[in-house]
Amino acid sequence: MILVLKHGIQKDETESLCSVLSAKYGVQTNPIIGSESTIIGLVGDTNLIPVSELENLVDVERVVKVQEPYKRANRKFHPDNTIVDVCGVKVGGDKVVVAAGPCAVESAQQIDAIAEAVASSGASLLRGGAFKPRTSPYSFQGLKAEGLLYLMKASKKYGLPVVSEITNPSQIDLFVDYVDVIQVGARNMQNFELLKELGHVRKPVLLKRGFSNSIDELLMSAEYIMSGGNQNVILCERGIRTFETSTRNTLDISAVPVLKAKTHLPVFIDPSHAAGQASLIEPLAMAAIAAGADGLEIEVHNNPKCALSDGPQSLTPEVFDSLMKKLAQLAAVIGREM
Ligand code: PEP
Ligand code: MN
Repeated sequence: MILVLKHGIQKDETESLCSVLSAKYGVQTNPIIGSESTIIGLVGDTNLIPVSELENLVDVERVVKVQEPYKRANRKFHPDNTIVDVCGVKVGGDKVVVAAGPCAVESAQQIDAIAEAVASSGASLLRGGAFKPRTSPYSFQGLKAEGLLYLMKASKKYGLPVVSEITNPSQIDLFVDYVDVIQVGARNMQNFELLKELGHVRKPVLLKRGFSNSIDELLMSAEYIMSGGNQNVILCERGIRTFETSTRNTLDISAVPVLKAKTHLPVFIDPSHAAGQASLIEPLAMAAIAAGADGLEIEVHNNPKCALSDGPQSLTPEVFDSLMKKLAQLAAVIGREM
């Protein structure tokens, strides 16, 4: 339930109204001072609260019932776009943010070379997996803590905050120390114990859509993190499983405008895991920007043929550089920066 307050209500009046509401109705209050108006979101068992009682409150302009099960992630709760600050990189604002790097960190030299290349092409974040959730137990599983260390060294050297995937709640302390954005992969989107733990940290979380999950399920997973107190969530569409076999997954481009309408959280597209083929990354990345995505996550490898994971979908640094130039031209057309 949302209370839209009357114009001109001050911060201290909003705060005292919040205290009254939580004491009287046993709900959590979420005040948002927006560009247009101040609203208070009520979370909890709001069904029994008589709406007329709220409508009669002197500071309240109107009461809006939120039917959707996601509250904190709902745009009705937070009409302005959320901007997630990743060590100074603003995600969700005018600038389209690109996270680039290898699927997996393979060695100190590999991540150093790729970080240098993607930084010079204009990427803002460095991605690299250290704990790899692989379909086969015989495939490369990642360098684990050693991989995070190499990632952090490259991050400091080239000034790129890092994104890396967590696979288990037991890794949280390590990730809080080494990583700037904690990625939750498609396979863990509904690992609710992990999501609850991530609600207790303040690091930004890049939450990827599961390949068999609906948009509303993605938003409910975001709600798990946000209800724990961590509002720094970035959503990422990375392709879903359909009957189509020409691509690794089917990129649901409509997820971008649908999510932008339903939520205030920033939306990324990962064309690499959607396509599964390097030749398809450029058109899908262009489509993502045109559809209004706030950022992209793209796999780049200095030697894709020998990559220990996801080589076929990885761009060489040269192809990535040319893609970034094309994306910058497109972004300018739609009034965004790169
Ligand atoms: C990844 O980003 O390396 C990854 C495993 O992605 P996803 O979880 O989308 O498959
Ligand atoms: Mn990958």
